[in-house]
Amino acid sequence: GTSAAGARAASSHTGSLAGREAAADALLRQCGVLRVGSIEEMIHVLQGLTGTAMPRGNRLCILTNAGGPAIMAADAADGHGLTMAAISEETKRRIRAILPPEASAENPIDMIASAGPDHYESVMKLVVADDNVDMVIPIFVPPLIVEPLEVMRRITSVARASGKTVLSVLMAEESYYQRIPREVPDPVPFFRYPEDAVKVAEQLNRYRLWRERPAGTIPVFKADTKKAQTVVDAKRRAGGGYLGPAETLALLDAFGLPTVGQVVVPVDGDVVSASAGIEFPVVLKVVGEKIVHKSDVGGVIVGINSSAALRSARSAMETSLKKAGVFGDVSGFLVQEMVAPPDGGDSRQEIILGMAHDPKFGPLLMFGMGGRYVEILRDVVFRVLPMTDLDAKEMVRGIRSYPLLEGVRGEARVDIEFVEELILRLAQLVHDVDGIQELDFNPVIVTPARARCRIVDARVRVAAPQG
Ligand code: ADP
Ligand code: MG
Repeated sequence: GTSAAGARAASSHTGSLAGREAAADALLRQCGVLRVGSIEEMIHVLQGLTGTAMPRGNRLCILTNAGGPAIMAADAADGHGLTMAAISEETKRRIRAILPPEASAENPIDMIASAGPDHYESVMKLVVADDNVDMVIPIFVPPLIVEPLEVMRRITSVARASGKTVLSVLMAEESYYQRIPREVPDPVPFFRYPEDAVKVAEQLNRYRLWRERPAGTIPVFKADTKKAQTVVDAKRRAGGGYLGPAETLALLDAFGLPTVGQVVVPVDGDVVSASAGIEFPVVLKVVGEKIVHKSDVGGVIVGINSSAALRSARSAMETSLKKAGVFGDVSGFLVQEMVAPPDGGDSRQEIILGMAHDPKFGPLLMFGMGGRYVEILRDVVFRVLPMTDLDAKEMVRGIRSYPLLEGVRGEARVDIEFVEELILRLAQLVHDVDGIQELDFNPVIVTPARARCRIVDARVRVAAPQG
């Protein structure tokens, strides 16, 4: 993958974050393809898929005769969909009865260096029989006195009899890697390093989740597709480009995407009398097709509480725009209802929804944390169409900042189901209306109450007519 597409479409957030890599990743993920980072990993995953049972869960037990590699394995498993199995008290008690007092019966089970084939066999038997364990990674670093082939034989026979997933790690002298396949009948997969085995465990678990995943459904929302298509077609006939504020509003309304009350005021108009129908507090914004990031040039003023403040904001904005050298690009001003003021006692997050076209994969939908820092935080995920309700759920839960939506530090949870609905409505819009090249809703302000979730900034670019 490359990110060449990024530079080309840098005028939208979605375009600049998308790129071929994101498209390929989204498509493969949605189709249940296990993606690997190297040819070596591919071979390892094949060993796992063909050489041991598929896991029935994600609970991993590590057992070892050396502490270091087991800790490396436990660290590698952390945060990749696996959890360390909580082995039962009964199993622990039995393990303690077998091992010397210096050993640890806690997962990772450290049998210490004196462990031989018999210890591996008996402890493995207890571990695979524990209902809390789905996968086992036995690690063996041969001390001089213990025979590695015998340990591998015992691990293999317990594994085969159990039907559980076993991925072994042998950190031995070179010749053993050749001897195992010849001298151990049908050995379980063995890897040289703990991280390799953990990666395979992760991939097998991913495959399990994919197999167990219900298909999901593609919901159909009531929408005025015709009206939306008319808006896009008119722009296309006019040569394409960004939709103006009124056209954008019509498009979003047609698909039930929540907008805010707003009026557009011409450059020489009076902002106060034009916006008489909008209640304070309001937000004043510059309008101009070429002005991509309005705040960068002083083109957004929020929290305006009175007519006098609105009038002085208008003149302050003119000064900033002139200073930034963009006043010539201004086609008007927008007075918008202010959504969920930060001090309104309401939890409030800014998310981004977007779409960019990939030349090979078609439209790519993006969801992530929004606001001014999207490109810096890069906390976004992509999906290709079609999108099911399940895809939307996974998308929302797929960003690092998801806990912020759930509510942290005493904040309430935002309406996450509504966020999922917005993603699906956008998917329907992108699928059913021809000619949108890319779009960004940034931000969509989301709150615990559905009625206060609003798209406050939308940029929609229509493709130029063909030919
Ligand atoms: P731009 O992205 O072009 O800089 P935006 O319209 O996205 O301009 O506004 C920048 C920021 O101002 C938003 O991220 C949001 O925090 C705030 N904002 C803009 N419009 C509103 C609104 N109607 N209500 C509340 N906050 C708003
Ligand atoms: Mg914006």
